[in-house]
Amino acid sequence: DRIISASADREDDAVDRAIRPQKLSDYTGQTHVVEQMSIYIEAARKREDALDHVLIFGPPGLGKTTLARILANEMGVNIKTTSGPVLEKAGDLAALLTNLEPNDVLFIDEIHRLSPMVEEVLYPAMEDYQLDIMIGEGPAARSIKLDLPPFTLIGATTRAGSLTSPLRDRFGIVQRLEFYKTEELQKIVMRSASFLNMDLEEKGALEVACRSRGTPRIANRLLRRVRDYADVKADGKAEQKVAAAALDMLEVDNMGFDYMDKKILDTIIDKFDGGPVGLDNLAAAIGEDKDTIEDVIEPYLIQQGFIQRTPRGRIATPRVYQHFGISKD
Ligand code: ADP
Repeated sequence: DRIISASADREDDAVDRAIRPQKLSDYTGQTHVVEQMSIYIEAARKREDALDHVLIFGPPGLGKTTLARILANEMGVNIKTTSGPVLEKAGDLAALLTNLEPNDVLFIDEIHRLSPMVEEVLYPAMEDYQLDIMIGEGPAARSIKLDLPPFTLIGATTRAGSLTSPLRDRFGIVQRLEFYKTEELQKIVMRSASFLNMDLEEKGALEVACRSRGTPRIANRLLRRVRDYADVKADGKAEQKVAAAALDMLEVDNMGFDYMDKKILDTIIDKFDGGPVGLDNLAAAIGEDKDTIEDVIEPYLIQQGFIQRTPRGRIATPRVYQHFGISKD
């Protein structure tokens, strides 16, 4: 697996319990989101209402789950978490909804992957706190209606465009997370290092931040590899050159690119003459899943101006040629 994959692995989950921010004030960056959410939370708390339903979207590893947990925490309510693909039947969702206490948060990750049947149950639940569900089959089937306590649905998705519009319209608050700036990642890395009892130089943190693709999850993972390297090779002192050496060893370059990025960019340049190339052709050429390219690999390359998405397909920009020292002939 890629060291710079933005999806969580088991080690991430274990370490995460210690370093995941718990309060809005510890949530670094995303200043617009933090500003807005702190007002909405204060208002809801004053009125003793549930917070309005929140949709959070953005690439993996940017802090959607963390934000959802913080919102529940700041509201002083419980959070139940699930995900779109896990909720197979309407009854699965009904079971969760009927177990909520007033103003609780229900967090649904990958909400764009809900089945249409489950989504149908969600509409009246979100709108009127009503559960409207069929039980039984055939002639014995009947519909039951139940009142639910007021609650907050927090949905997270990597692709806002894949949500049906009736679902999207039922969220009162929509927040989009952006890739983090290097200084913000540096701050996150310094904070994590203190939880991990690491002796990390500011410049060492900067080295990690630069190579983390704007993504806190990647930053925290690279930090752990730097810690290993520093412990073995530098008596635990993670200075800049130690961090750089550790990350060079992982073959993550100074912009956070690895073999997979190079492969995609090489393919566009060599096989498709710089593009435009359609997603299907690109996926086939590199043997990767289309969704992985679109959700995980490509967003950072686009944000950094290495790939452009045009109606006719993906194009490699002049930056690619400069960064990888390729001449355009
Ligand atoms: P997502 O749900 O978007 O995939 P997560 O919420 O699981 O991402 O966040 C990934 C990791 O990044 C977590 O370990 C968390 O500790 C860290 N993290 C995310 N956002 C922030 C932030 N704003 N400040 C500090 N750490 C963060």
